[in-house]
Amino acid sequence: MLNVDKIRADFPILNRTVHGKNLVYFDNGATSQTPQIVIDAIVDYYSNYNANIHRGVHTLSQEATDKYEEARIKIQKHFNAKHSYEVILTSGTTHSINIVASGFATLLKEGDEIIVSSLEHHSNIVPWQMLCEKTGAVLKVIPMDQDGSLRMDVYHELLNNKTKLVFCNHVSNALGTINPIEEIIHAAHKFGAYVLIDGAQAVPHIKPDVQELDVDFYVASAHKMCGPTGVGLLYGKEELLQMLPPYQGGGEMIETVTFEKTTYAGLPHKFEAGTPNICGGIAFGVAVDYMNSIGFEAIDQQEKELLAYGTQELEKIEGLKIYGTGKKASVISFNLEGIHPYDVGSILDKLGIAVRTGHHCAQPIMNFYCIPGTVRASFAFYNTKEEIDALVTAVKKAKMMLS
Ligand SMILES: *Cc1c(COP(=O)(O)O)cnc(C)c1O
Repeated sequence: MLNVDKIRADFPILNRTVHGKNLVYFDNGATSQTPQIVIDAIVDYYSNYNANIHRGVHTLSQEATDKYEEARIKIQKHFNAKHSYEVILTSGTTHSINIVASGFATLLKEGDEIIVSSLEHHSNIVPWQMLCEKTGAVLKVIPMDQDGSLRMDVYHELLNNKTKLVFCNHVSNALGTINPIEEIIHAAHKFGAYVLIDGAQAVPHIKPDVQELDVDFYVASAHKMCGPTGVGLLYGKEELLQMLPPYQGGGEMIETVTFEKTTYAGLPHKFEAGTPNICGGIAFGVAVDYMNSIGFEAIDQQEKELLAYGTQELEKIEGLKIYGTGKKASVISFNLEGIHPYDVGSILDKLGIAVRTGHHCAQPIMNFYCIPGTVRASFAFYNTKEEIDALVTAVKKAKMMLS
Protein backbone atom coordinates (compact mmCIF):
# COMPACT_ATOMS: atom_id res chain seq x y z
CA MET A 1 0.00 0.00 0.00
CA LEU A 2 1.15 3.52 -0.77
CA ASN A 3 1.65 5.97 2.01
CA VAL A 4 -0.33 8.66 0.24
CA ASP A 5 0.15 11.28 2.98
CA LYS A 6 3.90 10.93 2.61
CA ILE A 7 3.68 11.09 -1.17
CA ARG A 8 1.48 14.19 -1.08
CA ALA A 9 4.20 15.96 0.89
CA ASP A 10 6.39 15.62 -2.23
CA PHE A 11 4.02 17.91 -4.19
CA PRO A 12 4.04 21.49 -2.86
CA ILE A 13 1.15 22.55 -5.11
CA LEU A 14 -1.24 20.13 -3.40
CA ASN A 15 -1.15 22.40 -0.33
CA ARG A 16 -2.65 25.38 -2.06
CA THR A 17 -6.20 26.59 -1.91
CA VAL A 18 -8.46 27.67 -4.78
CA HIS A 19 -11.33 30.09 -4.08
CA GLY A 20 -10.67 29.51 -0.39
CA LYS A 21 -11.03 25.71 -0.65
CA ASN A 22 -8.37 23.02 -0.53
CA LEU A 23 -7.30 22.21 -4.06
CA VAL A 24 -8.57 18.87 -5.36
CA TYR A 25 -6.55 18.22 -8.50
CA PHE A 26 -8.36 15.82 -10.83
CA ASP A 27 -6.97 17.10 -14.13
CA ASN A 28 -4.02 14.73 -14.25
CA GLY A 29 -4.93 13.66 -17.78
CA ALA A 30 -4.12 17.18 -19.00
CA THR A 31 -0.92 17.46 -17.00
CA SER A 32 0.37 15.84 -13.83
CA GLN A 33 1.73 17.76 -10.88
CA THR A 34 5.43 18.15 -10.23
CA PRO A 35 7.24 16.68 -7.22
CA GLN A 36 9.81 18.76 -5.32
CA ILE A 37 12.68 16.58 -6.54
CA VAL A 38 11.88 17.56 -10.17
CA ILE A 39 11.47 21.22 -9.22
CA ASP A 40 14.85 21.03 -7.46
CA ALA A 41 16.50 19.56 -10.57
CA ILE A 42 15.22 22.50 -12.62
CA VAL A 43 16.47 25.05 -10.09
CA ASP A 44 19.81 23.22 -9.82
CA TYR A 45 20.32 23.33 -13.58
CA TYR A 46 19.74 27.08 -13.89
CA SER A 47 21.57 27.84 -10.64
CA ASN A 48 24.66 25.74 -11.19
CA TYR A 49 25.45 24.46 -14.66
CA ASN A 50 23.28 26.15 -17.30
CA ALA A 51 25.20 25.78 -20.59
CA ASN A 52 24.69 24.58 -24.12
CA ILE A 53 25.40 20.92 -24.73
CA HIS A 54 27.41 18.80 -27.15
CA ARG A 55 29.60 21.70 -28.21
CA GLY A 56 31.53 23.56 -25.52
CA VAL A 57 34.84 22.29 -24.21
CA HIS A 58 34.28 24.15 -20.97
CA THR A 59 33.28 22.52 -17.70
CA LEU A 60 29.69 23.74 -17.52
CA SER A 61 28.96 22.50 -21.01
CA GLN A 62 30.49 19.14 -20.16
CA GLU A 63 28.42 18.85 -17.00
CA ALA A 64 25.21 19.76 -18.81
CA THR A 65 25.98 17.32 -21.64
CA ASP A 66 26.70 14.51 -19.18
CA LYS A 67 23.46 15.07 -17.27
CA TYR A 68 21.43 15.32 -20.47
CA GLU A 69 22.86 12.08 -21.81
CA GLU A 70 22.37 10.41 -18.42
CA ALA A 71 18.71 11.38 -18.65
CA ARG A 72 18.47 9.79 -22.09
CA ILE A 73 19.82 6.54 -20.63
CA LYS A 74 17.35 6.66 -17.72
CA ILE A 75 14.53 7.04 -20.25
CA GLN A 76 15.98 4.26 -22.42
CA LYS A 77 16.05 1.90 -19.42
CA HIS A 78 12.55 2.89 -18.34
CA PHE A 79 11.04 2.04 -21.72
CA ASN A 80 13.52 -0.81 -22.26
CA ALA A 81 14.75 0.48 -25.62
CA LYS A 82 17.65 -1.56 -26.97
CA HIS A 83 19.90 1.47 -27.59
CA SER A 84 20.02 4.94 -26.06
CA TYR A 85 20.16 6.49 -29.55
CA GLU A 86 16.72 5.05 -30.26
CA VAL A 87 15.45 7.60 -27.71
CA ILE A 88 14.88 10.96 -29.41
CA LEU A 89 14.15 13.79 -27.00
CA THR A 90 11.46 16.03 -28.46
CA SER A 91 9.25 18.83 -27.20
CA GLY A 92 6.47 16.32 -26.50
CA THR A 93 4.03 13.83 -27.99
CA THR A 94 2.76 16.21 -30.67
CA HIS A 95 6.30 16.95 -31.88
CA SER A 96 7.18 13.24 -31.83
CA ILE A 97 4.16 12.30 -33.94
CA ASN A 98 4.93 15.06 -36.43
CA ILE A 99 8.50 13.82 -36.88
CA VAL A 100 7.20 10.41 -37.90
CA ALA A 101 4.26 11.67 -39.97
CA SER A 102 6.35 14.12 -41.95
CA GLY A 103 9.08 11.51 -42.43
CA PHE A 104 6.65 9.12 -44.04
CA ALA A 105 5.61 11.76 -46.58
CA THR A 106 8.59 10.69 -48.69
CA LEU A 107 7.95 6.98 -48.20
CA LEU A 108 4.24 6.58 -48.99
CA LYS A 109 2.57 6.60 -52.36
CA GLU A 110 -0.93 7.07 -53.71
CA GLY A 111 -3.28 4.27 -52.74
CA ASP A 112 -1.31 3.22 -49.64
CA GLU A 113 -3.48 2.94 -46.55
CA ILE A 114 -3.10 4.28 -43.03
CA ILE A 115 -5.28 3.11 -40.15
CA VAL A 116 -6.05 5.27 -37.11
CA SER A 117 -8.34 4.53 -34.20
CA SER A 118 -11.47 6.56 -33.54
CA LEU A 119 -10.28 7.12 -29.97
CA GLU A 120 -7.42 9.40 -30.98
CA HIS A 121 -6.36 12.76 -29.62
CA HIS A 122 -6.40 15.42 -32.37
CA SER A 123 -2.61 15.39 -32.31
CA ASN A 124 -2.76 11.79 -33.55
CA ILE A 125 -5.33 12.53 -36.28
CA VAL A 126 -4.36 15.80 -37.93
CA PRO A 127 -0.72 14.94 -38.81
CA TRP A 128 -1.93 11.78 -40.58
CA GLN A 129 -4.58 13.68 -42.49
CA MET A 130 -1.87 16.08 -43.61
CA LEU A 131 0.27 13.09 -44.61
CA CYS A 132 -2.60 11.67 -46.68
CA GLU A 133 -3.10 14.99 -48.44
CA LYS A 134 0.58 15.12 -49.33
CA THR A 135 0.91 11.53 -50.52
CA GLY A 136 -2.51 10.43 -51.74
CA ALA A 137 -2.62 7.72 -49.09
CA VAL A 138 -6.04 6.84 -47.70
CA LEU A 139 -7.01 7.16 -44.03
CA LYS A 140 -9.13 4.32 -42.55
CA VAL A 141 -10.66 4.50 -39.11
CA ILE A 142 -11.20 1.74 -36.52
CA PRO A 143 -14.67 2.46 -35.14
CA MET A 144 -15.57 2.33 -31.46
CA ASP A 145 -18.24 0.63 -29.39
CA GLN A 146 -20.69 2.11 -26.88
CA ASP A 147 -18.47 1.04 -23.97
CA GLY A 148 -15.57 3.08 -25.36
CA SER A 149 -13.56 0.15 -26.69
CA LEU A 150 -12.28 -0.31 -30.24
CA ARG A 151 -14.09 -2.59 -32.69
CA MET A 152 -11.20 -5.00 -33.10
CA ASP A 153 -13.23 -7.18 -35.49
CA VAL A 154 -13.37 -4.23 -37.89
CA TYR A 155 -9.67 -3.51 -37.38
CA HIS A 156 -8.75 -6.99 -38.57
CA GLU A 157 -10.95 -6.49 -41.64
CA LEU A 158 -9.32 -3.12 -42.43
CA LEU A 159 -5.81 -4.57 -42.53
CA ASN A 160 -4.51 -5.63 -45.93
CA ASN A 161 -1.39 -5.55 -48.08
CA LYS A 162 -1.89 -1.85 -48.82
CA THR A 163 -1.77 -0.96 -45.11
CA LYS A 164 1.52 0.80 -44.42
CA LEU A 165 0.98 2.43 -41.02
CA VAL A 166 -1.27 2.02 -37.99
CA PHE A 167 -1.67 4.67 -35.28
CA CYS A 168 -3.39 4.18 -31.99
CA ASN A 169 -3.16 5.51 -28.48
CA HIS A 170 -2.24 3.17 -25.66
CA VAL A 171 -4.76 4.80 -23.32
CA SER A 172 -7.52 7.14 -24.54
CA ASN A 173 -7.28 10.58 -22.98
CA ALA A 174 -11.01 11.28 -23.26
CA LEU A 175 -12.36 8.03 -21.81
CA GLY A 176 -9.36 6.26 -20.26
CA THR A 177 -9.85 3.13 -22.39
CA ILE A 178 -6.78 0.86 -22.37
CA ASN A 179 -6.44 -0.35 -25.94
CA PRO A 180 -5.25 -3.88 -26.85
CA ILE A 181 -2.03 -2.58 -28.39
CA GLU A 182 -0.29 -5.98 -28.35
CA GLU A 183 -2.97 -7.34 -30.65
CA ILE A 184 -2.92 -4.18 -32.80
CA ILE A 185 0.86 -4.35 -33.26
CA HIS A 186 1.00 -8.07 -33.90
CA ALA A 187 -1.77 -8.00 -36.51
CA ALA A 188 -0.27 -4.99 -38.35
CA HIS A 189 3.13 -6.66 -38.56
CA LYS A 190 1.60 -9.65 -40.34
CA PHE A 191 0.87 -7.27 -43.22
CA GLY A 192 4.25 -5.54 -42.99
CA ALA A 193 2.71 -2.31 -41.63
CA TYR A 194 4.47 -0.15 -39.03
CA VAL A 195 2.77 0.86 -35.80
CA LEU A 196 3.04 4.08 -33.81
CA ILE A 197 1.60 4.00 -30.30
CA ASP A 198 0.73 7.30 -28.61
CA GLY A 199 1.59 6.58 -25.00
CA ALA A 200 0.97 10.11 -23.65
CA GLN A 201 -1.89 8.96 -21.48
CA ALA A 202 -0.43 5.57 -20.60
CA VAL A 203 2.94 6.58 -19.12
CA PRO A 204 1.53 7.93 -15.83
CA HIS A 205 -0.03 4.51 -15.17
CA ILE A 206 1.95 1.87 -17.05
CA LYS A 207 5.63 1.10 -17.66
CA PRO A 208 5.72 0.06 -21.31
CA ASP A 209 8.41 -2.31 -22.59
CA VAL A 210 8.97 -1.31 -26.21
CA GLN A 211 11.00 -4.43 -27.05
CA GLU A 212 8.45 -6.81 -25.59
CA LEU A 213 5.66 -4.93 -27.37
CA ASP A 214 7.75 -5.04 -30.56
CA VAL A 215 6.33 -1.59 -31.30
CA ASP A 216 7.92 0.42 -34.12
CA PHE A 217 7.38 3.89 -32.62
CA TYR A 218 6.26 4.87 -29.11
CA VAL A 219 5.73 8.51 -28.15
CA ALA A 220 4.98 10.31 -24.86
CA SER A 221 5.27 13.61 -22.97
CA ALA A 222 7.17 14.13 -19.71
CA HIS A 223 4.53 16.45 -18.26
CA LYS A 224 1.98 13.65 -17.95
CA MET A 225 4.35 11.61 -15.75
CA CYS A 226 5.49 14.18 -13.16
CA GLY A 227 8.03 15.85 -15.46
CA PRO A 228 8.08 19.38 -16.89
CA THR A 229 6.18 20.60 -19.97
CA GLY A 230 7.86 20.99 -23.33
CA VAL A 231 9.82 17.75 -23.40
CA GLY A 232 8.96 14.26 -24.53
CA LEU A 233 10.02 11.07 -26.15
CA LEU A 234 10.12 9.57 -29.59
CA TYR A 235 11.20 5.96 -29.41
CA GLY A 236 11.78 4.29 -32.76
CA LYS A 237 13.44 1.06 -33.81
CA GLU A 238 16.94 1.85 -35.03
CA GLU A 239 16.42 0.76 -38.64
CA LEU A 240 13.22 2.82 -38.90
CA LEU A 241 14.82 5.96 -37.48
CA GLN A 242 17.64 5.44 -39.98
CA MET A 243 15.09 5.16 -42.78
CA LEU A 244 13.15 8.34 -41.91
CA PRO A 245 14.51 11.63 -43.24
CA PRO A 246 15.30 14.38 -40.71
CA TYR A 247 12.43 16.62 -39.66
CA GLN A 248 14.11 19.98 -39.22
CA GLY A 249 17.37 21.36 -40.48
CA GLY A 250 19.67 23.30 -38.20
CA GLY A 251 22.54 23.05 -35.81
CA GLU A 252 23.33 19.82 -33.97
CA MET A 253 21.72 17.58 -36.62
CA ILE A 254 24.52 17.76 -39.17
CA GLU A 255 27.84 16.04 -39.64
CA THR A 256 29.38 18.32 -42.27
CA VAL A 257 27.94 21.33 -44.05
CA THR A 258 29.03 22.92 -47.30
CA PHE A 259 26.84 24.87 -49.68
CA GLU A 260 26.89 21.91 -52.07
CA LYS A 261 25.86 19.22 -49.65
CA THR A 262 25.19 18.58 -46.01
CA THR A 263 25.54 15.15 -44.45
CA TYR A 264 23.37 14.41 -41.47
CA ALA A 265 24.50 13.41 -38.04
CA GLY A 266 23.76 9.93 -36.76
CA LEU A 267 21.06 9.01 -34.26
CA PRO A 268 19.75 10.55 -32.09
CA HIS A 269 21.11 13.94 -33.23
CA LYS A 270 19.61 13.67 -36.71
CA PHE A 271 16.21 14.41 -35.14
CA GLU A 272 17.42 16.90 -32.52
CA ALA A 273 18.12 20.04 -34.53
CA GLY A 274 18.86 23.19 -32.55
CA THR A 275 19.37 23.69 -28.83
CA PRO A 276 17.03 21.27 -27.08
CA ASN A 277 15.12 21.72 -23.84
CA ILE A 278 18.24 20.78 -21.87
CA CYS A 279 16.84 21.47 -18.42
CA GLY A 280 13.58 19.74 -19.37
CA GLY A 281 15.37 16.63 -20.59
CA ILE A 282 17.35 16.38 -17.37
CA ALA A 283 14.20 16.91 -15.29
CA PHE A 284 12.40 14.25 -17.40
CA GLY A 285 15.06 11.77 -16.25
CA VAL A 286 14.49 12.78 -12.63
CA ALA A 287 10.72 12.33 -13.08
CA VAL A 288 11.26 8.83 -14.45
CA ASP A 289 13.36 8.00 -11.38
CA TYR A 290 10.69 9.45 -9.12
CA MET A 291 7.88 7.40 -10.69
CA ASN A 292 9.98 4.25 -10.38
CA SER A 293 10.77 5.01 -6.75
CA ILE A 294 7.02 4.96 -6.09
CA GLY A 295 6.67 1.84 -8.24
CA PHE A 296 4.17 1.14 -11.00
CA GLU A 297 2.54 -1.74 -9.15
CA ALA A 298 1.77 0.51 -6.19
CA ILE A 299 0.59 3.26 -8.54
CA ASP A 300 -1.71 0.81 -10.30
CA GLN A 301 -3.16 -0.47 -7.04
CA GLN A 302 -3.86 3.02 -5.68
CA GLU A 303 -5.41 4.21 -8.94
CA LYS A 304 -7.59 1.11 -9.31
CA GLU A 305 -8.99 1.77 -5.85
CA LEU A 306 -9.70 5.39 -6.68
CA LEU A 307 -11.36 4.41 -9.95
CA ALA A 308 -13.57 1.78 -8.35
CA TYR A 309 -14.55 4.05 -5.47
CA GLY A 310 -15.15 7.08 -7.70
CA THR A 311 -17.25 5.06 -10.15
CA GLN A 312 -19.33 3.54 -7.36
CA GLU A 313 -20.00 6.88 -5.67
CA LEU A 314 -20.66 8.93 -8.82
CA GLU A 315 -23.02 6.28 -10.22
CA LYS A 316 -25.25 6.80 -7.17
CA ILE A 317 -26.09 10.29 -8.47
CA GLU A 318 -29.30 10.11 -10.45
CA GLY A 319 -28.99 11.35 -14.04
CA LEU A 320 -25.21 10.96 -14.08
CA LYS A 321 -23.85 8.99 -17.03
CA ILE A 322 -20.30 7.66 -17.29
CA TYR A 323 -18.76 7.26 -20.76
CA GLY A 324 -16.24 4.51 -21.36
CA THR A 325 -16.93 1.52 -19.18
CA GLY A 326 -14.54 -1.10 -20.58
CA LYS A 327 -11.00 -1.82 -19.41
CA LYS A 328 -9.58 1.56 -18.51
CA ALA A 329 -7.13 3.69 -16.59
CA SER A 330 -8.16 5.92 -13.66
CA VAL A 331 -10.30 8.32 -15.67
CA ILE A 332 -14.01 9.02 -15.22
CA SER A 333 -15.65 10.92 -18.05
CA PHE A 334 -19.24 11.82 -17.25
CA ASN A 335 -22.21 14.13 -17.78
CA LEU A 336 -25.24 15.16 -15.77
CA GLU A 337 -28.39 14.72 -17.77
CA GLY A 338 -29.52 17.94 -19.45
CA ILE A 339 -26.60 20.01 -18.08
CA HIS A 340 -23.69 21.32 -20.13
CA PRO A 341 -20.32 19.94 -18.93
CA TYR A 342 -18.83 23.44 -18.91
CA ASP A 343 -21.39 24.60 -16.33
CA VAL A 344 -20.59 21.64 -14.09
CA GLY A 345 -16.85 22.31 -14.42
CA SER A 346 -17.27 25.98 -13.50
CA ILE A 347 -19.12 25.15 -10.30
CA LEU A 348 -16.56 22.48 -9.39
CA ASP A 349 -13.81 25.08 -9.82
CA LYS A 350 -15.57 27.43 -7.39
CA LEU A 351 -15.40 24.55 -4.93
CA GLY A 352 -11.66 24.07 -5.46
CA ILE A 353 -11.95 21.02 -7.71
CA ALA A 354 -9.97 21.00 -10.96
CA VAL A 355 -11.44 18.82 -13.74
CA ARG A 356 -11.33 19.07 -17.49
CA THR A 357 -14.47 19.82 -19.44
CA GLY A 358 -15.06 19.83 -23.18
CA HIS A 359 -14.17 17.54 -26.04
CA HIS A 360 -10.66 16.71 -24.68
CA CYS A 361 -9.11 17.17 -28.15
CA ALA A 362 -11.09 14.12 -29.24
CA GLN A 363 -14.12 15.47 -31.09
CA PRO A 364 -14.82 12.23 -33.02
CA ILE A 365 -15.55 10.47 -29.70
CA MET A 366 -17.97 13.22 -28.65
CA ASN A 367 -19.70 13.00 -32.05
CA PHE A 368 -20.06 9.25 -31.55
CA TYR A 369 -21.96 9.80 -28.30
CA CYS A 370 -23.76 12.88 -29.73
CA ILE A 371 -22.62 15.09 -26.84
CA PRO A 372 -20.76 18.42 -26.78
CA GLY A 373 -18.21 17.10 -24.31
CA THR A 374 -17.85 15.56 -20.90
CA VAL A 375 -16.60 16.38 -17.44
CA ARG A 376 -13.41 14.39 -16.99
CA ALA A 377 -11.97 13.55 -13.59
CA SER A 378 -8.56 11.87 -14.02
CA PHE A 379 -6.85 10.49 -10.93
CA ALA A 380 -3.18 10.13 -10.05
CA PHE A 381 -1.50 8.06 -7.34
CA TYR A 382 -1.34 11.13 -5.08
CA ASN A 383 -5.13 11.52 -5.01
CA THR A 384 -7.29 10.25 -2.15
CA LYS A 385 -10.75 8.87 -1.44
CA GLU A 386 -11.46 12.00 0.63
CA GLU A 387 -10.91 14.05 -2.51
CA ILE A 388 -13.36 11.84 -4.37
CA ASP A 389 -15.89 12.46 -1.59
CA ALA A 390 -15.38 16.18 -2.14
CA LEU A 391 -15.98 15.68 -5.88
CA VAL A 392 -19.18 13.73 -5.30
CA THR A 393 -20.53 16.35 -2.90
CA ALA A 394 -19.66 19.09 -5.38
CA VAL A 395 -21.29 17.30 -8.32
CA LYS A 396 -24.47 16.89 -6.28
CA LYS A 397 -24.37 20.60 -5.49
CA ALA A 398 -23.84 21.47 -9.16
CA LYS A 399 -26.77 19.30 -10.10
CA MET A 400 -29.02 21.06 -7.59
CA MET A 401 -27.94 24.52 -8.74
CA LEU A 402 -28.22 23.79 -12.47
CA SER A 403 -31.38 21.70 -12.76
C1 LIG B 1 -1.71 14.98 -23.96
C2 LIG B 1 -1.83 14.08 -25.11
C3 LIG B 1 -1.22 14.37 -26.33
C4 LIG B 1 -0.48 15.65 -26.59
O1 LIG B 1 0.63 15.79 -25.76
P1 LIG B 1 1.48 17.16 -25.82
O2 LIG B 1 2.37 17.10 -24.63
O3 LIG B 1 0.49 18.27 -25.75
O4 LIG B 1 2.21 17.16 -27.12
C5 LIG B 1 -1.34 13.44 -27.35
N1 LIG B 1 -2.02 12.30 -27.18
C6 LIG B 1 -2.64 11.98 -26.03
C7 LIG B 1 -3.35 10.69 -25.89
C8 LIG B 1 -2.56 12.86 -24.96
O5 LIG B 1 -3.17 12.56 -23.80
